Amino acid sequence: MPAFPCPSCGTSFNVAASQAGSQTNCPHCGQTVNLPKLGELRRLDATASESGAVAASLSQAGSLSGSRVAFVACFFVAAIAAILGGFCLIRGWAITVPGSTADHIVEIETYYPELPAAQLVREWQQIESFSEELAMPYPYRQIADERSAWLRKGMLGMLAAAIVAGLAAVIGVVGRPTRADA
Ligand SMILES: [Zn+2]
Repeated sequence: MPAFPCPSCGTSFNVAASQAGSQTNCPHCGQTVNLPKLGELRRLDATASESGAVAASLSQAGSLSGSRVAFVACFFVAAIAAILGGFCLIRGWAITVPGSTADHIVEIETYYPELPAAQLVREWQQIESFSEELAMPYPYRQIADERSAWLRKGMLGMLAAAIVAGLAAVIGVVGRPTRADA
């Protein structure tokens, strides 16, 4: 059914082919409208739907290039996050921790029983004067903390990279032109 734009109000309305060449009232403004002959009516309709299709494909092209930009941006953010995360992981893995709390306890357990009583008393007095809480952690503990901080940053970087890469994949799939567009 061809569509005809009302010369009075501009709103298009559908016209039956049998109405071509006759008069009708616009369903929107009620004006009496002279309808063109069938050939002219079809030509008008074809032009209107063609310009509509062009407008639709133009807006689709716009959103396509927009999603491509978003895809590339996500890809780069994911790559940077993966590089930073990888750097942190490698730094963490490269650190060798020279001891553990378990080793330290074993060391103390073998060391203290060998001390003479007088030395034990002095050690206790030192603990009393310095307080039982150590202001500074043991060096192996500090190194272990530094190692786990690097590994934590590395894991966070990799997690961020994975999330953004997933986002890029979603944008890539959604933004991909379908066969009908090509
Ligand atoms: Zn009208």
